Amino acid sequence: MSPDAVALRQGDRALTYAQLADRAARLASVLRDRGVQRGDRVAHLGTNDLTTFEAFFASGLLGAVFVPLNTRLAAAEVAYMLTDCGARVLLVGNGVELVAKELVEDPELDRLVTLPFAEVEAEVAAAAPLAAEVDVTLADPALLLYTSGTTGRPKAATLTHGNLTWNTINQLAHFDTASTDRALCIAPLFHAVGLGQVTLPTLFKGGSVDVLDKFDAGTVLRLVGEHGITSFSAVPTMLQLMVEDPAWADADLSSLRHVVFGGSSVNEGVARAWLERGVRVLQGYGMTEAGPGIYMALQEGSGDRPVSVGVPHFFTDVAALGADGSVVPVPQEGPGLELLVRGPNVFAGYWNRPEETTAGVVDDRWFRTGDILRADEDGWGYVVDRVKDVIISGGENIYPAEVEAVAITCAGVRSAAVVALPDHRWGEVGVAYVETFPGATVTEAELRAHFEAHLARYKIPKHLCFVDELPRNATGKILRSHLRDRARTTLEEKP
Ligand code: ATP
Ligand code: MG
Repeated sequence: MSPDAVALRQGDRALTYAQLADRAARLASVLRDRGVQRGDRVAHLGTNDLTTFEAFFASGLLGAVFVPLNTRLAAAEVAYMLTDCGARVLLVGNGVELVAKELVEDPELDRLVTLPFAEVEAEVAAAAPLAAEVDVTLADPALLLYTSGTTGRPKAATLTHGNLTWNTINQLAHFDTASTDRALCIAPLFHAVGLGQVTLPTLFKGGSVDVLDKFDAGTVLRLVGEHGITSFSAVPTMLQLMVEDPAWADADLSSLRHVVFGGSSVNEGVARAWLERGVRVLQGYGMTEAGPGIYMALQEGSGDRPVSVGVPHFFTDVAALGADGSVVPVPQEGPGLELLVRGPNVFAGYWNRPEETTAGVVDDRWFRTGDILRADEDGWGYVVDRVKDVIISGGENIYPAEVEAVAITCAGVRSAAVVALPDHRWGEVGVAYVETFPGATVTEAELRAHFEAHLARYKIPKHLCFVDELPRNATGKILRSHLRDRARTTLEEKP
């Protein structure tokens, strides 16, 4: 390949492939001197930075397992993850010293070696690059990624070197990437979208990646034009924030060849706004456990189906769980079935949670995604909803995603989340939490009339609650469990 080509850039710093390899090998020496061995977990807490990549590749050289942690978590949550994965070392990036200080003082974590990057920098510069390469195989774990925690406590998905490689190959089979590409890494590297969707595939092909420490809509729009960015991956909230940004109208997006996004459902209007600007926005569907890609829109045809997640990745098989527990094809009729997935990108299991890993497997080899999907006649997939989010009211199934998609077409509504509330008469009823655009007023009567015009009566949420902002996690996912709890404490009627 090209050792002198730029691999990574951030602000005015850049690393060629040769420099990245050298820095990773030096950091690997430093980590080995601190006792890190094959199979040990090297945790990392920090915003996206060149050092995040150095740490990821250094861990790989040692056969150690990299565990990037979410900087927006409270110290107690980080401590839970460090204990859960049994980290040997915690590398600390700039700007998170406060959380790190609490961790150092946590008596439960007394064995943990904490290494602030700022402090090891001199050591890294002076270290000899790791000489003896550890014999790492594709079956060795490379990365523990915590799931987003939408349905409960985050679980660590164990992704092997093979999983990451196959996910990369799957992505490259879907969209054109070349050594001349310049990607922008805007999603956090502790989430599967940050590393798996565009970043690793671009590096695999010898292109370069500009690293952004944290997402800001106006900054991304400016950088795309200034640096001639050819692609990035995002979560739908980021695409929406860019469309709503004052810089959107004049942003120069002409260098973008494709934008890949996924992680939660997209507002159709937002996808269309990007398509109308001539940008190919390719929706993907996946999950941390699949490294993450399962489905992705093809470059040809995505414009006609802006909310479809496309077709299954080339080296990944999908099926569905039939009502009688059998494995059947993804249905083209009816409301959809739970998707099953298998393939070389699908993870090796949840770290230290054998029962949960086994519980997720059907017929020995299919992993249950927990998501309901259906397909059209060409096999393009549509995410219906999560199995756990379906509301069963008076014996009828209500899919929150369908109700939410109708809600956001009501003038003034920015976003909506519909959750179940236990009800002594109906079993469950729906509660809609509705976020309006700043300055917009939407009345309950208006929204109810809108629902009545577009939805069967039984699907209309019993309660409509207007909020300034829906609770979201670091990647913009709506925290439904918080809303479910809120509905229970504020609305539940005692029989
Ligand atoms: P947890 O597993 O901890 O409850 P999570 O499932 O939200 O959290 P992730 O692995 O980040 O954690 O997200 C994967 C999930 O995101 C999928 O199972 C699916 O429910 C949802 N998802 C991913 N892509 C899409 C998409 N394009 N459209 C709709 N939903 C999506
Ligand atoms: Mg999940």
